[in-house]
Amino acid sequence: MKKIQMVDLKSQYDKIATTVNTSIQEVLDTNTYINGPQVHQFQKSLEEYLGVKHVIPCANGTDALQIAMMGLGLQPGDEVITADFTFAATVEVIALLQLTPVLVDVDVVNMNISLERIKAAITPKTKAIVPVHLFGRAANMDAIMDLAAAHNLYVIEDNAQAIGADFVSNHGTTAKVGTIGHVGATSFFPSKNLGCYGDGGAIFTNDDDLAHTIRGIVNHGMYERYHHDVVGVNSRLDSIQAAVLNAKLPLLNDYNTARRTAAAKYNTALAGHVNIVTPSFDSNLNNHVFHQYTLRIIDADRNALLQHLLNKGIPCAIYYPIPLHSQKAYADSRYKEEDFPVTNQLVQEVISLPMHTELEDEQIEFITASILEFLDK
Ligand SMILES: *Cc1c(COP(=O)(O)O)cnc(C)c1O
Repeated sequence: MKKIQMVDLKSQYDKIATTVNTSIQEVLDTNTYINGPQVHQFQKSLEEYLGVKHVIPCANGTDALQIAMMGLGLQPGDEVITADFTFAATVEVIALLQLTPVLVDVDVVNMNISLERIKAAITPKTKAIVPVHLFGRAANMDAIMDLAAAHNLYVIEDNAQAIGADFVSNHGTTAKVGTIGHVGATSFFPSKNLGCYGDGGAIFTNDDDLAHTIRGIVNHGMYERYHHDVVGVNSRLDSIQAAVLNAKLPLLNDYNTARRTAAAKYNTALAGHVNIVTPSFDSNLNNHVFHQYTLRIIDADRNALLQHLLNKGIPCAIYYPIPLHSQKAYADSRYKEEDFPVTNQLVQEVISLPMHTELEDEQIEFITASILEFLDK
């Protein structure tokens, strides 16, 4: 059996090496390292793939979130509501811009931001909601958009983990997540569902004016060369990374299908066990693209299971071990532990198993057998 890895980028690369190498070689041959034609081509291809009017490439997913918030003109003191259970980048940029982060609890089933908790957190100062499509699963965008409309709030989707996932609306429409809110942000970090070979990110919007504003912000606030109208940043996707993404974007649907297939196999082997809650998903809907495959371990020693798997050479991880509201950087006297029962529970229960596009059946069988062996001993 091939060595099990949390993310196997090497095996994935081996299958696409010729295409990727050719694509990178073009950049080297033409010396168009910054803003080369590869970047523009990727922008156009991603706009088409997502069905969104504007994609603005940038340097990474954290920048994408920050620039989205800058583009919306959010001002110091504005309150921005986001999930307590996510990667810190989401809340970090809110704080960096001197906006006021308002962390709220999540739902136990889909692990995404709780509607009821958002409602309870809205104040006259609230300006935006940042849902995170955590682990690749679409948040309930219908309810979030309705709530935002009722309170005149912006919606910024953190789509770093869910590129390619669909949200099927109650209104009968289907859209790619990240394109439903006023603006979406994603990351092309190597291990993300669409990863480059370094850092990369992008912002999505259907709003022409916002897209124009953001194109200036990513380029030092310039709308005309050497005229700086607003304070911007330098945040670019470089041409070599765009070349990698041009080679990989046509494979994104296959990659997401491979992740969903692996998830279904894990579920089949593990569902129904008294100590395990498997991630629920509908195989007919593409609403979960499994950036992570995350179990909840109930009434059993999650940490000992983690150690058991590591001892057997099975990499696995706790995403995320500490709620954001408990992090030193984001502590706030307004937060009360009783407001975060689900996040406080999830950090004790979750364990993420190896998940990537190259998982083999015998690896999945070994992983699931090792989990059951521990729980049933
Ligand atoms: C990865 C990630 C980011 C940040 O992306 P980078 O490209 O690493 O800056 C933001 N939010 C979430 C939820 C992520 O998983």
